[in-house]
Amino acid sequence: MNAIYLDNNASTPMLPAVWEAMQPYLCDRPGNPASSHRFGRHARQALEDAREQIATLLDAHPDEVLFTSGATEANNLAIFGLVGEARGAIVASMIEHPSVLEPIQRLVEQGHTFTQLPVSSSGSYDQPISNFPYPDDVRLVCWMLANHETGAVQAVKMLAFPLLDRKVPFHCDAAAAAGKMPISFHNLGVTTLTLSAHKFHGPKGIGALLVRKGAKLRPLHFGGHQQHGKRPGTEPVPLVIGMAKALAWSLQNLDANRAKLLDLRHRLLDHLRAHAAPVLLNGPAEGGLPHALNLSFPGCNADALLMSLDLADVACSTGSACSSGSLLPSPVLAAMGKTGDVLHSAMRFSLSPLLSSAEVIEAARRIAQCVKQLRLSSAEAN
Ligand code: PMP
Repeated sequence: MNAIYLDNNASTPMLPAVWEAMQPYLCDRPGNPASSHRFGRHARQALEDAREQIATLLDAHPDEVLFTSGATEANNLAIFGLVGEARGAIVASMIEHPSVLEPIQRLVEQGHTFTQLPVSSSGSYDQPISNFPYPDDVRLVCWMLANHETGAVQAVKMLAFPLLDRKVPFHCDAAAAAGKMPISFHNLGVTTLTLSAHKFHGPKGIGALLVRKGAKLRPLHFGGHQQHGKRPGTEPVPLVIGMAKALAWSLQNLDANRAKLLDLRHRLLDHLRAHAAPVLLNGPAEGGLPHALNLSFPGCNADALLMSLDLADVACSTGSACSSGSLLPSPVLAAMGKTGDVLHSAMRFSLSPLLSSAEVIEAARRIAQCVKQLRLSSAEAN
């Protein structure tokens, strides 16, 4: 058995059925959906069918679906597009992805203020919202649906509810959650919601921002009439078709995928607890995204373990792919109160329903071996 891929929160393998659905629109059906000839009409029909399918799967209206190049663009569009002219307070969780935090940082440079609300040691907001009333001058709230490092699912509906009457926009990054849990856009009570297809076995380079009807969203790009001018540019029909197919597969197989992922997660955790103790779980023991497992291996440096696992042909990560390369410890785990050896020995494993039990057991065996070797060599060095 060769390389084993346990980094599905960074990106997932695309399904063969997704490729098959996309392929004709890359080769034989070249039409631009804005063209009025037969090829254009065909592309437009396929595009709108996919938009409708995505909307139905997420309990949204097709007019509420804007296609973007992925979650980073969707988060930027939501944050800069919703905030409006008047300066005021922006509120977000302490565990947002850099593609949410960095745009907010730009707004702070332009005169907005920023408050980050804390999360519990298991990584979610667990207090009555009345403990943290939103400031009077709140202009925008951002809170993800589930965390990309720990899988902790967030109480978004409860957090969005107090803002409904105040007409304050609420943006929700669901890039880690989409395809892993049921989502009703209308029920969540949020203004905008981000998706990214490569996180749920679709192609890279396509995502969506769901925008509630009536919300005021200023575009970031100009120069085309497409998508009502909110996100101009020729729509990437093959990618959109791929995203719809992948989302349909993920949500139509949600229960079976969830059961399989929970089983794989248990096997991995049980094996590591038995053969690489001490192992500490960062994140919820239950109720989180079923494919996510964030573990600390005290006595091991996470970057050294990542390299040794790479040599052992197991792919995983020490945090968000967008912050990897930085040797700083995960801000998400730091926000959960993790410090010292627990923080510096944390690894993120993220599974996929396409993995077999044999692969996960073999990965667990390799991880335990690398952990033991590293602990031994750091004990010898001390
Ligand atoms: N938000 C979250 C929660 C993510 O996990 C990611 C991917 N690391 C992104 C946003 C950015 O996604 P994309 O790669 O589609 O830009």
